[in-house]
Amino acid sequence: MPAMQASSNQSQPPLIDPFGRSISYLRVSVTDRCDFRCVYCMAEDMTFLPKRELLTLEELDRLCSAFIARGVRKLRLTGGEPLVRKNLMSLVESLSRHLKSGDLEELTLTTNGSQLARFAHDLARHGVKRVNVSLDTLDPDRFRAVTRCGEIGKVMEGIAAAQDAGLKVKINAVALRDVNEHAIPEMIEWAHGQNMDFTLIETMPLGDIDGDRTDQYLPLNTVRKRLEESYTLTDLPDRTGGPARYVKIEETGGRLGFITPLTHNFCESCNRVRVTCTGTLFMCLGQEDAADLRGPLRASEGDELLHRTIDEAISRKPKGHDFVIDRERAAPAVGRHMSVTGG
Ligand code: SAM
Ligand code: SF4
Repeated sequence: MPAMQASSNQSQPPLIDPFGRSISYLRVSVTDRCDFRCVYCMAEDMTFLPKRELLTLEELDRLCSAFIARGVRKLRLTGGEPLVRKNLMSLVESLSRHLKSGDLEELTLTTNGSQLARFAHDLARHGVKRVNVSLDTLDPDRFRAVTRCGEIGKVMEGIAAAQDAGLKVKINAVALRDVNEHAIPEMIEWAHGQNMDFTLIETMPLGDIDGDRTDQYLPLNTVRKRLEESYTLTDLPDRTGGPARYVKIEETGGRLGFITPLTHNFCESCNRVRVTCTGTLFMCLGQEDAADLRGPLRASEGDELLHRTIDEAISRKPKGHDFVIDRERAAPAVGRHMSVTGG
C-alpha cells in the first residue's frame, strides 16, 4: 500500500455524544475471516463476506484517519483475526504516522496469536506497544476443541515472539462453564508468572453459534468469589472507560481484569465506537443501530460527507445496551457475530 497522506481535518471539532461522552477510542474490524472457529464466537460452517464488501486498506486508513482528526486517541485493530488480512502490516505502517505526529496515543491489536510469531517484530517496529492475545485454555486438546481447529503451540510461539519484540502482552480469556472454569487459577498464575496481565470476559449474546449460550455462560461474580477463597484481590482504580474492572492479586503481584458486558456499570463512561470491516459504524456493541460509512467513503475523495455521516451517527449514540442471556429468549440479543463487529 502506498504511504497515505493524512487528510488535514485538524480543524474538525471533537466527537462528543448527546450524553457528553467524548469518543476517543475506535475499534476497527479489518476482516470477518479467521483461522479459528471458536465455539462461542462463530458457527463451524461460516460464510464469509465477499471481498468487494470489505473496505480496502486505503479506505480503512482514510476512515481511521478521519476519526483521529476528530479526537480518537486509541485505535484497536481487530476482526475476525486481524493478522489474516493480507498486507495488514502496510496499514499498520501507514497508521503509524499518527503515532509519530502525536495525534494518536496508542495503536494496538487484538489477536488469537496464531500468526503473531510472523508479525510481532513488524508491529513493534511500527510503534505498536501492546497486544491482546485471546487464549481460553492452556490445555492443547481443550484448545483445539474450543477453537475447533487451533494449535496452541503456534499461539505460544506468537506470545514469545511478541515479548521478544518488546510488546506488552495481555491475555484475554472468555470464562466458559465446564471448559475453563476450573483452570482459571492456573491460567492466572501462568500469565502473571510471565509478566502478562490477564483478563476474563463474560460471554456475550452476539450472533448465532451452533450451541446454546446459556450452557457456556459463567458469571464472573461467581469466578471472583471462588478466587477470593484462595487469593487476596485488591480493587484497582478504573482507567479504561470500558467494561473492564481490574484487581491486583497480592499473591502473584499481577493484574486481573473482569470484563462484564452484561452489566450496565460502564455505559455511562463509554468512550468508544466500533467499525466493521464493511465500514458500518456501531455506536454501541449491544445495539443494532448503525451507520454506513462505506457509502460516504466511496462517494467522493474528500472526507466532508464522511465527517457529516459520523457526526450524525454519534448524535444517536445510545445511553446503554440491552444484553440479555436467558432461556426464554433463545435468539441472540444482537444478530451479528463478534467477528463482524470486532471484540
Ligand atoms: N480473533 C481475534 C481474537 O480472538 O482475539 C480478535 C477478534 S475476537 C472477536 C475478539 C475477542 O472477542 C476475543 O477475545 C474473543 O474471545 C472475544 N469474543 C468473541 N465472541 C465472543 C462472545 N460471544 N462473547 C464474549 N467474547 C467474545
Ligand atoms: Fe476467530 Fe477470535 Fe472469533 Fe476465535 S474469537 S473465532 S479467534 S475471531
